Amino acid sequence: MSSTPAKAEAIETPDVLIVGTGFAGLGMAMKLLDAGHSDFVLLEKADDVGGTWRDNTYPGCACDVASVMYSYSFAPNRSWSRMYAAQPEILDYIKRVVKDRNLEQHIRFNTEATSYVFDEDSDRWSVRTRSGQEYRARIVVLAHGALHQPNIPDLPGMGRFKGEMFHSAQWDHSVDLKGKRVAVIGTGSSAAQFIPEIAGTAAHLDVFQRTAHWVLPKADRPLKGFERKLFKALPLVQQLYRLLAYWTHEVPVLAFLNPKFLKVLELASLRMLSKQVPDPELRAKLTPDYKIGCKRILLTNDYYPALQRPDVDLITSGVAEFTETGVKSADGQLHEADVVILGTGFSTDNRCATENIVGRDGITIQEAWRDGMTAHLGTTVSGFPNMFMLMGPNSGGGAQSILFVIEAQLHYVVECLRMMRRRRATRLEIRADVQREFNSRLHGKLAGSVWNSGGCHSWFLDHTGQNRQSWPGTGTSYWRATRRPDPKAFTLTSRAGGRRLRAVSQPTDSL
Ligand code: NAP
Repeated sequence: MSSTPAKAEAIETPDVLIVGTGFAGLGMAMKLLDAGHSDFVLLEKADDVGGTWRDNTYPGCACDVASVMYSYSFAPNRSWSRMYAAQPEILDYIKRVVKDRNLEQHIRFNTEATSYVFDEDSDRWSVRTRSGQEYRARIVVLAHGALHQPNIPDLPGMGRFKGEMFHSAQWDHSVDLKGKRVAVIGTGSSAAQFIPEIAGTAAHLDVFQRTAHWVLPKADRPLKGFERKLFKALPLVQQLYRLLAYWTHEVPVLAFLNPKFLKVLELASLRMLSKQVPDPELRAKLTPDYKIGCKRILLTNDYYPALQRPDVDLITSGVAEFTETGVKSADGQLHEADVVILGTGFSTDNRCATENIVGRDGITIQEAWRDGMTAHLGTTVSGFPNMFMLMGPNSGGGAQSILFVIEAQLHYVVECLRMMRRRRATRLEIRADVQREFNSRLHGKLAGSVWNSGGCHSWFLDHTGQNRQSWPGTGTSYWRATRRPDPKAFTLTSRAGGRRLRAVSQPTDSL
């Protein structure tokens, strides 16, 4: 390994630099090891691994993807305790994988990459961290996730509020909610999980809903003793469960792409609403006015019951302003609050908003994405050679486990590195025309999807209304598209003897 031990001023020169130690970054590290490549470093801005599953610690935080689909296929978790795992169990699994694969030696904690500059003479990236440390790497893999910048809305008078206020992804566990009046802004996936948990602890809960969400039951339960034993003793049984879960997640995507088939899901959701909410007035407030699937569907059995507790109110007239002592709704009523919790989601318009990334010919990612985030297969961006993104633009699985998507990308990155080696290329860059045509086809397909045409605004759409998150197909189609990089889609060149040469094919299979 060519990297030197961490020393403030010393430059480290890993072959591959991975940014982020969530599922994506750690998976990349494991796939590199499996390919016989150990010359890599992972940068982590925090002091621990886990990404979103480290940051989101709000009460009730859990996964709405079946747990059998929520571990790496190449490092399966044989000891899930539930059908849908909760955050502590997922984080434990991630930490176990890090230990089992001895990944910690590659990780630089408390190290936030803030600037990336591509050096055209050496075909290497120079990456600087907040503390001034420099890394020079042949390949950079951005694995910092899609949902990591909390969206803190700028609501009138927010600064005036004298009580406690925090975002769901930055839960302040030092604030005891017992006996307090609590206001929750937002009713998305996160809020729907923590509202049932804090209702009853707080003296009173006011829930501010801007848009009603579609809800479906969550088929969650603890795994039975015999199932857990079977998973451990006969891995094939767990694989069959996984296959079943895979197709359960895959089928709704077909309806999301052809909204006329969504009626069945809408009827199931309305049936649940009418069964769980007898009061017609409350039911009307909770009935969405757009197509199901347009926003992420909430899978929960206890959200509607929580809203009907005598100590919980659902407020739908909108937030007018904050006062020193609470939140005033648009109908003029003041809702006194000791604590305000923002369940307001994440900023998703530009995944690299806080980073200075300078590619070929001095182009910055901000300039490249002036009209919105675009990439090729969510992994490479024209103008930014030798850089890969995981969970990049338009690679999100409509309902499929994001881990499945990530694994397809890990495979694709490894295959790209193999292609570089085979062709003795020191630089790989997706061609601009290929990326353009790919995106024009992609956005054409998305136009008819429920995410674009379902009549709502969600975090899938950027401020111009373009969908920058969704893959316009099933997980299977994404898997197929990422099996083998097409050499013709890239410009592969080699820096040799001070001259730039077009890369040539050479038989070798290593990285
Ligand atoms: P979200 O789904 O984007 O929900 C944000 C909520 O805040 C919405 O109800 C939104 O209202 C509201 N809001 C935002 N800005 C507002 C404003 N200025 N005034 C009033 N209300 C405002 O965010 P999230 O709940 O954190 O979930 C984000 C994503 O994270 C999910 O879609 C999901 O993919 C992922 N997630 C997954 C799990 C899981 O189980 N795997 C759990 C949690 C989160 P509008 O609807 O009107 O915009």
